[in-house]
Formats: sequence, structure tokens, C-alpha cells
Amino acid sequence: MGSCFMKPFDVYPLFDIEIVKGEGCYTYDAQGNKYLDLYGGHAVISIGHTHPHYVQRVTEQLNKLGFYSNSVQNSLQVQLAEKLGKASGYEDYSLFMINTGAEANENALKLASFYNGKKRIVSFGKSFHGRTSAAVRVTDNPKIVAPVNSGMEVTFLPLNDIDAVKAELAKGDVSSVIIEGIQGVGGIRIPDDNFLKQLRRVCDETDTVLILDEIQSGYGRSGKFFAHQYAGIRPDMITVAKGIGNGFPIGAVLIAPKFKAVHGQLGTTFGGNHLACVAALAVLEVMEDEKLVENAAEVGEFLMTELKKISGIKEVRGRGLMIGIEFENSAADIRRRLLFDEKVFTGASGTNVIRLLPPLCLTKQQAELFLDHFKKVLA
Ligand code: PLP
Repeated sequence: MGSCFMKPFDVYPLFDIEIVKGEGCYTYDAQGNKYLDLYGGHAVISIGHTHPHYVQRVTEQLNKLGFYSNSVQNSLQVQLAEKLGKASGYEDYSLFMINTGAEANENALKLASFYNGKKRIVSFGKSFHGRTSAAVRVTDNPKIVAPVNSGMEVTFLPLNDIDAVKAELAKGDVSSVIIEGIQGVGGIRIPDDNFLKQLRRVCDETDTVLILDEIQSGYGRSGKFFAHQYAGIRPDMITVAKGIGNGFPIGAVLIAPKFKAVHGQLGTTFGGNHLACVAALAVLEVMEDEKLVENAAEVGEFLMTELKKISGIKEVRGRGLMIGIEFENSAADIRRRLLFDEKVFTGASGTNVIRLLPPLCLTKQQAELFLDHFKKVLA
């Protein structure tokens, strides 16, 4: 019998590039080519690749203690909750830590259902909330929902259609409404501020829990700490992941005071471990020191203004450094040429939208550099 090796399960279509190093808003491949990173590896790199403060904090903690279980005191969790409360304006909320975005939504949906005893969930067209059982069921993509996930009662409504929401919630059996601060995978679609305000009101009137998924749009990306803060509302729960750890896998749920914690009701082995807490603390420290939320607002505004001047684009949408560039036809070739000819990483939503999700430390000069490469490809 010939030799046989275990291989990675082949679920990802891969670009033939191996990234081996990162620094700030740049990454480097195995051949030493340098790439401008306008994607942050799926909106994960918030403070920049290998930020020295982050590397130092995580290294020091690793040399002390990487992990111990959630059965003992962990003052790092307390410090993180306090710091995140201050940074986000949610000091009266509690923090539950897990490891991924899907898990964050899974736990939020569960806690909502424990709270009001109801089962049905309302979600929105083009939503993406993750791939575990409840999270994938509230995701508007039947292709990634397996039969084993299909039992839950979920109703999908059009984004920004408040009358449709009112009609569903009036039936009295909806446990929670889950909505992204800005839809990412769905193509950078922003819920109207007025829609969010009315959604908040109707959830209150019908004892429905409002869950804001800020996994992609949160942590400063939109130019405010959370994208929903443009509407001035306060959700009952907010889910975060991606940028919270700058690459360290962390997810979390911010939970309003009305939810009472019950010992044993939620739990996780890895969530809130010592290394994760220090990575998340280092991220918040850098965000504060370098004013990255403000930077995302400024550089994002500049990028969007300049992008809107370029002809041949159908629409530019976004807030802060979460930007969608929609074309009439497929943008796959533009994205490919940006990557291989210009050495610029970007993301996609569907076929026609290019998604920009750079590290929040992107400078105006780097934004200008991106615009030069982009115009060259479009010319
Ligand atoms: N929610 C949103 C809005 C996301 O964009 C994602 C990931 O793309 C998720 C949830 C799922 O996060 P994870 O892949 O960490 O489970």
C-alpha cells in the first residue's frame, strides 16, 4: 500500500499564497512579497498585525500561565469586563466569554430563550450569524444549514421593514430578534437608524430580546465602538468576536442587567482563559492609546469620499472602515488583479461586492496607496 497522509478537510477555496509574516497593515508571503492588507483576515486584525504591545502582553502572560479553568477566580476576566464596559459605554452590562462569533450568538439566543421562555426567532434577509446550530439557523443561507440544524423556528424578514417586524412580534411567541450592526457577508448593508429605534421599541412592547450581532461591525470598525450606536439604541445583548482578540480566538456576549446569571446555565472550557483575556486587554489598551475608533471614522470617511469619485462603480456603502464597493457585474477579476498584480488583499460579498475591512490603524497614506492600486486595476 502506498503512503497516505492526513490532509486538511478541503472546504476552503484557497488563493495560492502563503502568508508567513505580518506587520501593521502589511502581510508578507513565503517568497517575501509584501501585501497591503485591506481585509485584516476577515475583519479580525483590529490593531494591526504583530502590534509590539500586544505581542509583549501575550508573551508575558504565556510565560506566566496560559490557561486554567473557569472553576477558580480569574481577575483578568474582571479587568477585561471593566475595561470593555468603559470603552463601549456599557458599564452596567455583564460579560460572558467564549471563543468564536458563532458561539457568542448561540449563547445569546439561548439566554434570550431561558429569559422569556419563548422559542421563535426573527432574523433578516442576507444575514450571517455563524455556522453552529442556532447561529446557522438564523443565517439566511439554506446551503449551509444541515438537516440536523433545521428544527428551530426562525422567521426571516426583509431588513428595514418595520411593519413586517411589528406584525410578527405582535403574535407574542418571538423570543428574540437578531440583527447585525451592519450586514457584512450580506454585502455591507446598513440598517436604517430609524428602523433600529423602532425595532428597540417594539421589542420592549412585546417582551422580545433584541440581540445586536456586532461581530464584524463592532469594536470600532464603524467609526463608533458599536455600529448600532449611530442609532442611539441599547440592545439587550451584544455579541462580539473577530477584532476583540486581534487574531486570538475570542468571542463574547455583553449582557444587560435584566438577565440574571444562573450557575451552570452557560459554560465553556476555553472561554475567558488567561491568554485570551490578556490578548483582549492589549487590544483595548492599543485602541485607546492610538485612538483607533476615531482613526477608523476619519480614514473611512476619506476612503469612501474618494471611492465615490471613481467612475464604473455602482455603489459605495459603509461606515468607518467597513466599506462595500458594488459593481454591476462580478468583481472577482478586479479582486484577483488587486491581489496578484498590485499585492493588495481585499474581501468579497457574493459576486459583485468588494469588501474592505482593514486593520483600524490604516493611515491616510495607506488609504491613498490603496486608491492608487485600485484605480490602476480599474483603468
Ligand atoms: N456574525 C457575523 C456578523 C459574522 O460576520 C461572523 C463571521 O464572519 C460570525 C457571526 C461568525 O463568527 P465565527 O466565524 O467566529 O464563528
